[in-house]
Amino acid sequence: MDDYSNDIILTGDRPTGPLHLGHYAGSLVNRLALQGRCRRQYVLIADCQALTDNAGGAGRVAHNVLEVALDYLAVGLDPERSPFVLQSGVPELCELTMLYLNLVTVARLERNPTVKAEIQSRGFSRDVPAGFLCYPVAQAADITAFKATLVPVGDDQLPMIEQTGEIAARVNRLAGRDVFPEAKALLSTTPRLPGLDGKAKASKSLGNAISLSASADEVSRAVQAMFTDPGHLRVSDPGQVEGNVVFAYLDAFDPDKAAVEDLRAHYRRGGLGDAVLKKRLDGVLQDLLAPIRERRARLARDPGQVMRFVAQGTHAAREVAARTLSEVRRVFGLRELEPAAKRLAATW
Ligand code: ATP
Ligand code: MG
Repeated sequence: MDDYSNDIILTGDRPTGPLHLGHYAGSLVNRLALQGRCRRQYVLIADCQALTDNAGGAGRVAHNVLEVALDYLAVGLDPERSPFVLQSGVPELCELTMLYLNLVTVARLERNPTVKAEIQSRGFSRDVPAGFLCYPVAQAADITAFKATLVPVGDDQLPMIEQTGEIAARVNRLAGRDVFPEAKALLSTTPRLPGLDGKAKASKSLGNAISLSASADEVSRAVQAMFTDPGHLRVSDPGQVEGNVVFAYLDAFDPDKAAVEDLRAHYRRGGLGDAVLKKRLDGVLQDLLAPIRERRARLARDPGQVMRFVAQGTHAAREVAARTLSEVRRVFGLRELEPAAKRLAATW
């Protein structure tokens, strides 16, 4: 494995619902692998960003902060080595966003392909909340606040990392020196897990994902309902593996890669029914999720402790973000009220 000992990692999720297998395969696996092997890993629970298309759902977002923190702990993220940071607890991030908004044009915001697709899938059209259109700028604030060099993400986030690079370069140019290092995306071997319905991406908002906290029954039912090859009517028919969600999940989660290759060849030839494949996938997912579910249920008995982890991580992160903010304020020529800002930070 590469040497990540000098890397600062920023990664995170929107608390729009419990985390799902897409998060696990796309980002959590890398966070777990890098935990303790990098300089620092901040894990952001992006509650302000969750409001950008859920402004009326503040209660739901607040509830999901706990759910997401429970998911982190249940998969094995350790708040000592990977502090959990609540975005709204670090108001410096909002100020950075405000400053960066002056470095970005509306045309550039509208060109972001992920945001474009999300605006379409949410049916926003011109009625898109301005906060939603601008959320890549808020992500640039999150990443640069910690001077992150590495961002483990799914591939839907690549345009955000690109935009972050542009903003960081503009700040560096204004400053006449490298305030920010380059932040690189870190993709996993499954950069985009498809939805159960065959849609390109499993997503909380689309409700087409298996959550990490799903019951054994829910997992089995989701596997049964998974999109396969609609042309594969009889077991003896040759089947298509491209676009077949069961194969995408076997590729992502079945530890026996050689066996999956054999199944793929057999399915293509014909003579292998969906029921056999789905039974295998059900077993694989049950093995993966049972220990996570168990740990999660245990941790959920003490929500106060979970939120204390979040508060501790947020407190530590705030100091770092405050230092970056005063640097950026100076770059923009704003007057520093450093002592007052410090006193405020200390009271939090
Ligand atoms: P929402 O629909 O509310 O936007 P989401 O499912 O897209 O939720 P996010 O919180 O936006 O989840 O994403 C958190 C991280 O998980 C990002 O790095 C994203 O790229 C990654 N991720 C989310 N869904 C998938 C997926 N299906 N495959 C791979 N990575 C994913
Ligand atoms: Mg998303």
